[in-house]
Amino acid sequence: MSATSLPILAIVIPCYNEQEVLPATIPAIDSLLLRLIKAGKVSDRSFALYVNDGSRDTTWEILSCTAAENPRVGALNLAANVGHQNALMAGLEQAAGLCDITVSIDADLQDDTDAIEGMVDAHAAGADIVYGVRARRDTDTWFKRNTALGFYRLMQSLGVKSVYNHADFRLMSARAVRDLSQYGERNLFLRGIVPLLGYRQAKVYYDRRERMAGESKYPLGKMLSFAVDGITSFSVKPVRMVLAAGGVFLLVALGILIYVLVRYESGNTIPGWSSLILSIWFCSGVILISLGVIGEYIGKIYKEVKQRPRYSAETFIPPRH
Ligand code: UDP
Ligand code: MG
Repeated sequence: MSATSLPILAIVIPCYNEQEVLPATIPAIDSLLLRLIKAGKVSDRSFALYVNDGSRDTTWEILSCTAAENPRVGALNLAANVGHQNALMAGLEQAAGLCDITVSIDADLQDDTDAIEGMVDAHAAGADIVYGVRARRDTDTWFKRNTALGFYRLMQSLGVKSVYNHADFRLMSARAVRDLSQYGERNLFLRGIVPLLGYRQAKVYYDRRERMAGESKYPLGKMLSFAVDGITSFSVKPVRMVLAAGGVFLLVALGILIYVLVRYESGNTIPGWSSLILSIWFCSGVILISLGVIGEYIGKIYKEVKQRPRYSAETFIPPRH
């Protein structure tokens, strides 16, 4: 391969209050870039792009100084904290115009930077999207490991395609990033959208490490709202469950009707009980079914307002007359 055809790699790193970890992350990423450039795997115009997601500490000062000194470092300052997913998207979109491939990684380097070489190799072998997948999670707490596993299972059962044990450590070609920008939704859940993009996809396995410094920016509350976002952005199944519950209530009402009639015949009922118990179950059933039906329509509207692209063409060979 000639030097000019080497792909330009952009490593995109969202940072929120990461002043403790950046002094370690910046040189680690830079030496990795130099190694890949030296090995002839990526172009010498490859770079790291740090996104400051409205940090309240000195993150931006660190990033802007580094960018001024190091030609292989770019820095993007967001005007406010918009959350991990949106900050990452901002970085990817900014980078896509300047590179051929992007790799996204968290600032705490819990994900093994050495896996990036494997990702670049998989891209050279033809993949447009390469997922970094954790082989083991022993360094995570028992709680984090099991809540994550439960979440993956739940997503799976709700019919949302996502890659097991993959977070936001992945390689995407610039064209895959451009396709991703077509997804206009405001509740970004990249792990759910990326598998929908298509193209040739591959996986690279690595071991997840402990956070090098600082604290997790995903406390339980944020984790839960992230999970709810993931589900409600991709699945209308919860609405269908309401409909199903309505059906169950009506069935119970039918059973109670029979029971009530039998008790009534035998004459040992308190006056008013039969009609009361029956109407409770029957009305609840009707209400739930009505809610489910309305929910179905809202589900449709919901899909429409997201205005997702209908398709994305990978190659087109025009007819030659
Ligand atoms: N992050 C961000 N904006 C936020 C929260 C987090 O850009 O509002 C970044 C953070 O700096 C880190 C990445 O998202 O690079 C993942 O966060 P963290 O490592 O705290 O999450 P965990 O690994 O605990 O799930
Ligand atoms: Mg982390």
